[in-house]
Amino acid sequence: MTGKQPKVLISIETEAELLAHAHAIEQDALERYRMLADQMEAHNNPVLAELFRELASHEEKHAAEILSRAGNIALPDLRPSEFKWPGVDSPESAELDLAHYKMTPWHALQMALRAEQRAFAFFDHVVNSAGDPNLKAWAEEFRDEEAEHVELVERLLEKYPEPEPGWDEDDDLPALQD
Ligand code: ZN
Repeated sequence: MTGKQPKVLISIETEAELLAHAHAIEQDALERYRMLADQMEAHNNPVLAELFRELASHEEKHAAEILSRAGNIALPDLRPSEFKWPGVDSPESAELDLAHYKMTPWHALQMALRAEQRAFAFFDHVVNSAGDPNLKAWAEEFRDEEAEHVELVERLLEKYPEPEPGWDEDDDLPALQD
């Protein structure tokens, strides 16, 4: 577990609320992975671009599954400000600052890792705070899926270590010697 605790206690009380949040998380992940795939294509890393596209379609399938699971349950149409996310950051914020035009695989994977960890923390919190056993069981299932995503990204990070300082310097400028 990460040491950082959610700043705001959230409580998800209904299955509809849980599914609406889960769907938003998947949708968010899907868009993030597509963006990262584009970045990796621009960065001439077709292997990672392909991988991010696979992850995107994986999240897309999850999003569709959540909708079909909702079945007749009407999902609340949440505005981002109405999401009961842990902490104050919405999942989408902050990290987009990291989207550098020369983003390396390491940066892309760091961004993915943080998003997956946040999704894990969200469902973990629901598991620990849910009163309803049904709700708890569903949240557990979502949490386990996120745990797998975290592990997957962590394994990839072993293959793509942090770049040396200076990774973002402009190659067109002559190197300064001292
Ligand atoms: Zn995930």
